[in-house]
Amino acid sequence: MARPSVIAIDGPAASGKSTLGQRLAEALGYLYFDTGVMYRAVTLAALRRGVDPNDEAAVTRLAEVVHIDVVPPTVADGRQYTVLLDGEDVTWDLRQPEVDAWVSPVSAYPGVRAALLSQQRRIAAGGRVVMVGRDIGTVVLPNADLKIYLDASLEERARRRYKEMMARGQSASYEEVLQSMRRRDEIDSRRATAPLRPAPDAVVIDSTTMDADAVLKHVLKLVEGADDHDGK
Ligand code: C5P
Repeated sequence: MARPSVIAIDGPAASGKSTLGQRLAEALGYLYFDTGVMYRAVTLAALRRGVDPNDEAAVTRLAEVVHIDVVPPTVADGRQYTVLLDGEDVTWDLRQPEVDAWVSPVSAYPGVRAALLSQQRRIAAGGRVVMVGRDIGTVVLPNADLKIYLDASLEERARRRYKEMMARGQSASYEEVLQSMRRRDEIDSRRATAPLRPAPDAVVIDSTTMDADAVLKHVLKLVEGADDHDGK
């Protein structure tokens, strides 16, 4: 087997997917793409334009027309990338609690997923890509060369997210973060279209007691292991 070219990373919120995705892509010289920002951008667009997030038809129409660009960071403020929504930099707005609250219901609409799916497949078509999300290994890229499902306990994930929010100066209590994450996990796992779950051929990693370095090291071994079978 050659070194995996298309790598899918899925898992629940704050399991460490984006940190792993970015660092893995950097180590391999691949493109890193976080699909969560697309769902967040559609949600933010609805909230800003006064489209009721409960109105499936209206949100779906919006998902079909909004222009979402993800480009290398344009500001050195700790961001992994810059997200443009119809040309406007919304990178940090995507992390507002209101977006957190609505993104899972919006992501459950099949029409919204269909609108974003073709864009995601196009982005991955060239290979040498690490794509991160909830349904990458199961639906978006079922033929990915390596699939990772990164998990961690709810409490540990809430603790990580709470720490990140404090560092950014956002105000929230740990309990609020925990409840919001629990609700999001439930909606993401129970929806009919592309629910959050490991692909049958995914390598499941529980990062509850692992730091980011340990997770990266483990995954790099998997990548190299796949490479080794080739005898190269
Ligand atoms: O990864 P992140 O927490 O930014 O994702 C935000 C939300 O977007 C998730 O809770 C989920 O509802 C949705 N999402 C999805 N499919 C993906 C990526 C994200 O449904 N591939």
